[in-house]
Amino acid sequence: MNRSLEVDCLVVGAGPAGSVAAQAVSSRGHSTLMIEKRAEIGLPIRCGEGISSAVLDLLDLPETGIHISTRMDGARIISPSGHKIEFRSDPKKHDTGYILNRDMFDRMLAIRAFRSGADINVMCEAVGMEREDGQAVIRCKSLKDTFDIRAKIVIAADGFESKIARWGGLDPSLSPRDIDSCIQYRMTGVEHDGSFCDFFIGKRYAPGGYVWCFPKGNDLFNVGLGINESMINGPSFPKRCLDRFVGSDPDFTQGKIVEVHAGGVSVGLPMDMTVADNLMVVGDAARIIDPLTGGGIYNACVSSIHAGRIASECIEAGSYSSDDLEPYDKAWREDLLEQIVFDYLAKERFLDADDELLDSVISKISSYDLNEISTEVLINVIKNEFPDIFVA
Ligand SMILES: Cc1cc2nc3c(=O)[nH]c(=O)nc-3n(C[C@H](O)[C@H](O)[C@H](O)COP(=O)(O)OP(=O)(O)OC[C@H]3O[C@@H](n4cnc5c(N)ncnc54)[C@H](O)[C@@H]3O)c2cc1C
Repeated sequence: MNRSLEVDCLVVGAGPAGSVAAQAVSSRGHSTLMIEKRAEIGLPIRCGEGISSAVLDLLDLPETGIHISTRMDGARIISPSGHKIEFRSDPKKHDTGYILNRDMFDRMLAIRAFRSGADINVMCEAVGMEREDGQAVIRCKSLKDTFDIRAKIVIAADGFESKIARWGGLDPSLSPRDIDSCIQYRMTGVEHDGSFCDFFIGKRYAPGGYVWCFPKGNDLFNVGLGINESMINGPSFPKRCLDRFVGSDPDFTQGKIVEVHAGGVSVGLPMDMTVADNLMVVGDAARIIDPLTGGGIYNACVSSIHAGRIASECIEAGSYSSDDLEPYDKAWREDLLEQIVFDYLAKERFLDADDELLDSVISKISSYDLNEISTEVLINVIKNEFPDIFVA
C-alpha cells in the first residue's frame, strides 16, 4: 500500500445507481469519488434494456439519443399454449416502453456525474471496508497498487453481487426462491414486427420466470430469460431453456447470436435496513428491484436520488451515524415499498402456478379491454377472476 485518499463521499460502482448518487452529492459541492472495478463503464451489458418512460422522466433524459435504441408501440404477454394479451402504449398516459442502449445510458449518467464535479476511477475495485475515527476506510485495488480511501459516507452501488453491504454489517442474503438466473442473446437476422416487446410466460418456457423478446432496431434483437434458482434443473439450465426457445420459434430460424449476456437478478424483498454507520446501500445492492419483472433501473435511480440528497445533508451537518442516515431508508421505502411488496406477493403466487392456470389467466384477461400496461391493473383483474391465487 502506498497512498491514501480522502473524500466526503465515496460511491462504489458506476452503474445507474452509482452515477445518479454521485451526481446528486457532487452537485451540492461535496468532494465525491466514484470507483468502478471494470475497465469500461456500461460493459459488459447485463440487461434486457427495457425501461418505461418513467425512467426518462425521472432523469430528465430525452426520448431520442444515443442512450435509446427503440421506442415501443406496446407489449404482448403470451401464455404457454399461445393465448395472448396486447397492450398498446398511449403517449398521453406516459406509459411508453423503450429499449435502451444500456452501455451508452450508463456512460451518459457517469458523464453527468463527472460534469457535476464527481471524480471517477475505473479499474478500481473495493476489496474491504473498515471504520476508523468516525470515517469509513475502503481498501481498493487498482492495476498499479492497493490503497485506502477514507470517506465520511460510502454509497454502496455495487449491484447484485454487492459485498460492501455485508462488510458494513448489513444482511443482503437471498434465498434461492428470491433469485433469478438470467441469460440473454443479442441476435441479428430475427424476424419480428419490431415495434412490440413480447413476454412468454410459463414453465414451458422459463420455470419461475419468463422469456423477453426486445427488438433493438438496426437488425439487432435481445432475447433472454430468467429462471428462478429454486427451479434450476441441472448444469446450464437457463442456457438450455433459451436454446430450446430460440430453436423452436420460427422468428429465430435465420437469426445469429452476436453477443451473450448473463447475470443474476434479485426477485426478493429489499434488505431490512439499507443504512449503517457511514454507509448507504442503493439499487440492486440493496435488492430494491421489482420482484415480479426483475426490472431494477427505475428503482435504482429513485433510491440513489434519495441517497444523494440525504448524504449531502449529513455531510453538511457533519454527522454520519446509522441514525443520521436513516432518513434515506425511510424516503425510498415511502416511494417504492408498497409496489415492491405488491409485486413480491404476485411473484410468489405465480412461482407456484402451473401452465394450465397461466393459460386460463391470460385467456381470461384477453377478454378484457385493457388499455393500460400496469402490473397493478393486471393483478387486480386476476384477483377478481382467480381469487384462489391470492389466498394469503
Ligand atoms: C440479464 C438481466 C436483464 C435485465 N433486464 C432489465 C431490464 O430490461 N430492465 C430493467 O429495468 N432492469 C433489468 N435488469 C436489472 C438491471 O440491470 C439492474 O436493476 C440495474 O443494473 C441496477 O443498477 P445498479 O447501479 O444498482 O447495479 P449495476 O448496474 O449492476 O452496477 C453495479 C456496478 O458496480 C460495479 N462493482 C461491483 N462491485 C464492485 C467493487 N467491489 N468495486 C468497484 N465496482 C464494483 C460493477 O462492475 C457495476 O458496474 C436486468 C438484469 C439482468 C441481470
